[in-house]
Amino acid sequence: MCHSGSGCRICEGEMTGRYKGIEKWAAAVLFAAACGLIFTGCDGEDAEKEAQGPVAVENPKPALDIPVIIDIDEDGAGTGKEDKAITVEVSGEETEGEDTSGNTPKEAGDDNETGGKEAGDEGSNEAEDEGSDETGDEDPSEAEEAEDGTGKDGDAEGEEATDDTAPEEAAGPEVVPGSVESVSLNPGWTYADYSAINSGAAKLYRAAGGRKGVVIAVNAGHGTRGGGSVKTYCHPDMSPKVTGGSTGAGAVKATAISGGMSFADGTSEASVTLREAQLLRDRLLAKGYDVLMLRDDADVQLDNIARTIIANNTAACHIALHWDGDGLSYDKGCFYISTPDGIKGMEPVASHWQQHEALGKALISGLASKGCKIYGGGSMNIDLTQTSYSTIPSVDIELGNAASAHDDATLAQLADGLAAGIAGMF
Ligand SMILES: [Zn+2]
Repeated sequence: MCHSGSGCRICEGEMTGRYKGIEKWAAAVLFAAACGLIFTGCDGEDAEKEAQGPVAVENPKPALDIPVIIDIDEDGAGTGKEDKAITVEVSGEETEGEDTSGNTPKEAGDDNETGGKEAGDEGSNEAEDEGSDETGDEDPSEAEEAEDGTGKDGDAEGEEATDDTAPEEAAGPEVVPGSVESVSLNPGWTYADYSAINSGAAKLYRAAGGRKGVVIAVNAGHGTRGGGSVKTYCHPDMSPKVTGGSTGAGAVKATAISGGMSFADGTSEASVTLREAQLLRDRLLAKGYDVLMLRDDADVQLDNIARTIIANNTAACHIALHWDGDGLSYDKGCFYISTPDGIKGMEPVASHWQQHEALGKALISGLASKGCKIYGGGSMNIDLTQTSYSTIPSVDIELGNAASAHDDATLAQLADGLAAGIAGMF
């Protein structure tokens, strides 16, 4: 609607004609509204503006909100029930779809910003954050299980079941090794006397050809019958644990080795870690590494400390394979257990924790390079018995949780990732 004075029906007297009936003040209001438009430049500036296109206007003139009551029943404005109060907004600028609420429109993106949280932020490095209580060595959940037999992550049966079920046949190596020999715990080895269960033996596979002369210790987590009912010291200096988990911070002793959790489909973690260890063994033998299988069957009578000490004295690094019993309903992805500051002053951790971190990072980058899902920043701080007794690069790698797929194709992808990570470091 234009009120330029020329050709405008309101200006040229239609006012005088048809609207005489409307009470003066209503007309006056309308007239004032019309005048406001005139003063804001209906004098041909439009053409100019159009030519220039929309310009950012600093401090746009405040909108003029003029209340108007329409006398619907024509018996006088504002007196009749049907009369309608409307607000006529007059602003200097004619803009499309202007928000008439009077609120300034929000900048695009305000509502849909995620606050830039990287995935990593979630994966804070403290175990208790994620309720992850899967620790390769003394699985706190089972530790409590051992204490009160109730089990925390619902795998009490798993442990017991794992112990009682007929041992699964170890799958023979798909890559023919040059030789295989047994390695038992030598009681003279440092910290050997901290172990409670050590009558079993590990198996050392030598590559048949292209030997690199490097032994990789692969530890299929869990799988020691009776392990849940024995305790060992968390630290060689018998100091208390510094991080929580199912076994609270402050505990001096923990389960010698737990039964592990069960996957959502009921499969025991212990059987899957064994399968994964065998797939990784074959890939490493094929690359010329020698492989120390700390468990090569459904059961080996070697607790976590015994496995760690045998690895310390036989291999260049120690990789313990686990899946996390965190109770989540989705696959969390892979991460390694990193060393909490609280034990970095204690030997042998003080001398080796950087090596542990380097190995953890190498494995995570290998897994990522094969498209495996990585959890958070790829690590979580937990005070582990394995770390506390290790004198070589040593890491507990969590390859997922109870919701993770564990078919052979998935396990093969994970084994490729782990082998790539090892190749990056040895
Ligand atoms: Zn485990």
